[in-house]
Amino acid sequence: MSLNHVRPWRNIYRRKSRQIMVGDVAVGGDAPIAVQTMTNTLTTDVAATVAQVQAAAEAGADIVRVSVPDEASSKALKEIVRECPVPIVADIHFHYRRGIEAAEAGAACLRINPGNIGDEKRVKEVISAARDHNCSIRIGVNAGSLEKHLLEKYGEPCPEAMVESGLEHIRILQDNDFHEFKISVKASDVFLSAAAYQGIAEATDAPIHLGITEAGGLVSGTIKSSIGLGNLLWMGIGDTIRVSLSADPVEEVKVGYEILKSLGLRHRGVNIISCPSCARQGFDVIKTVEELEQRLEHIKTPMSLSIIGCVVNGPGEALMTDVGFTGGGAGSGMVYLAGKASHKMSNDQMIDHIVEEVEKKAAELDAAAEAAE
Ligand code: SF4
Repeated sequence: MSLNHVRPWRNIYRRKSRQIMVGDVAVGGDAPIAVQTMTNTLTTDVAATVAQVQAAAEAGADIVRVSVPDEASSKALKEIVRECPVPIVADIHFHYRRGIEAAEAGAACLRINPGNIGDEKRVKEVISAARDHNCSIRIGVNAGSLEKHLLEKYGEPCPEAMVESGLEHIRILQDNDFHEFKISVKASDVFLSAAAYQGIAEATDAPIHLGITEAGGLVSGTIKSSIGLGNLLWMGIGDTIRVSLSADPVEEVKVGYEILKSLGLRHRGVNIISCPSCARQGFDVIKTVEELEQRLEHIKTPMSLSIIGCVVNGPGEALMTDVGFTGGGAGSGMVYLAGKASHKMSNDQMIDHIVEEVEKKAAELDAAAEAAE
């Protein structure tokens, strides 16, 4: 990571993990923290699943997981993998055959717990299928489905039980000389998740997949995930994240990115800085930001835009953004470019104008990045 020597209070010291590959996406080491989501269509409905993966990828998902509950889904997976622009993780529970089929169908990773798929022979078969097809594995420990012997030993799902479960699954893979794996220790409780993740982060150098499971709906789940994932990422833990929401996968991707953006860990698209608005606003800030968020969704270049209702905070925020608009009064406001006051613009033309300015700036930044390569 690049350290900020001027503002050391912004530095996050990322835990050193091994790097593995999920298809062509590197996870762990110094690779960017990957954003994941999961489809909620029937996997056998190939068209709907591919459309959902494509929408998630368009929103920035690096990796997408798909459930493979039966043989028909394994068959559909082959087509899905072929048509999707990002690596696909096959979500397998208990059925070792599904694991083999998914690896053969081209899944980039299997989410499977080797301790839960039967005897040693079956485990070996799944691991060889993964090895033969360049497929990594995610061990997915979940507080809600801990092994019986651990529940008996610890009495209830607790961080120690989750870490022990994770290490038991890891041992099986290592005993089979398989090292292309990452691990998650999810719980729906933020405290339990955070403690389990800290424990597993100390106990292994495997890359870590972060998530707060069954976090809830768009608002409550976003808050829960931001607290849980945010704290862990701030501690330097986490190589890939999935925000679980009872909402469209695209929302999960957007929230994931926003968490990473807030911590300066990844940047993508326009970071809009806007005030909550009040009686001093020179234009309707809330409506404007809502419309700009939609109209600027296509911009992938990392850049910043400030939309501030009046001069109380407008010029100060504009100083630090690529493009800015500050309400002034008498139906117009000031446009700022690269931190400097540039020209006045009437409120009724301001949205179209800002979209143009942002697109221009994005093209400029893209050209500069290309020239620097
Ligand atoms: S910047 Fe101005 S309009 Fe926005 S909340 Fe502050 S005082 Fe109100």
